[in-house]
Amino acid sequence: MTDAVLYVVATPIGNLDDVTPRALQILSLVDLVAAEDTRHTGRLLNHFGIKAQFLALHDHNERQRSEFLLQQLHNGLKVALVADAGTPLIADPGFFLVRSVRASGYPVVPVVGACALVAALSVAGLPTNRFAFNGFLATRSDARKQQLRYSCNQPMTQVFYESPHRIVSFIEDLVTICGPNRQVVIARELTKVFETVYGDVAPAVLHWLRQDKNQQRGEFVVLVAGNDTPPLSEVAETHLLTCLLESLPVKQAVAMAAKITGGKKNKFYKLALALKAGQD
Ligand code: SAM
Repeated sequence: MTDAVLYVVATPIGNLDDVTPRALQILSLVDLVAAEDTRHTGRLLNHFGIKAQFLALHDHNERQRSEFLLQQLHNGLKVALVADAGTPLIADPGFFLVRSVRASGYPVVPVVGACALVAALSVAGLPTNRFAFNGFLATRSDARKQQLRYSCNQPMTQVFYESPHRIVSFIEDLVTICGPNRQVVIARELTKVFETVYGDVAPAVLHWLRQDKNQQRGEFVVLVAGNDTPPLSEVAETHLLTCLLESLPVKQAVAMAAKITGGKKNKFYKLALALKAGQD
């Protein structure tokens, strides 16, 4: 019988009072804390008067460190995995470690707590019975747009993480790709001093972001309502019209889109104006 165990421990996403007594207890008792950034987690544990033995585990060394940690478990040690903030493995390292530890037969125990995605969903006012978490989109513009096109076509609420320097262009892409009527919610700086949750149709959210640079700072979760129109309607039409507008004047593009889809010219004309406004 061995005491070996891997605890996957959630830490706060801003407000330190969100750390759980159980997390502190576990972090005090383990032999080793595998942390994304040992100095960052060191400061957190220091704040709570906890001394720990650290090991850095991040995207670039996870495989190699997992072998070492498996060896420690084999020796009967207790290990905790923590991320810089929130729940490990949620847009954070740890998947390879958890899979390896489970495959080796050691217990993996969740020590639950904060997670930006769940916090945002709990206050956004969008359906939560079905949702898709997309993490961060690709950094390359064409790849991001392709991912967005896919996500905007899905019927369930879509959740994204986004960084401050890309938040405006992300919402611009949303207006273009998901169309002007889609509900979008921005959950910013959750649990922190400047916590803000703002929701409206995509162009209104873009306007709100653009007019106040302070709202472009910090950490963001972006939630997008699922596509509740029949498949291929709104997103496909928006995409079609966007493509046509790349090579045709508005009038011709609108006429062509109406002809191809059998839809009303008037509707496509409004959409064309909204798309053009989103590019400004
Ligand atoms: N593991 C974390 C979790 O459980 O949510 C997420 C880590 S991921 C590297 C960091 C991203 O999560 C940020 O860029 C932001 O998109 C989101 N995030 C983290 N803390 C947040 C907060 N307090 N408010 C809003 N978004 C946050």
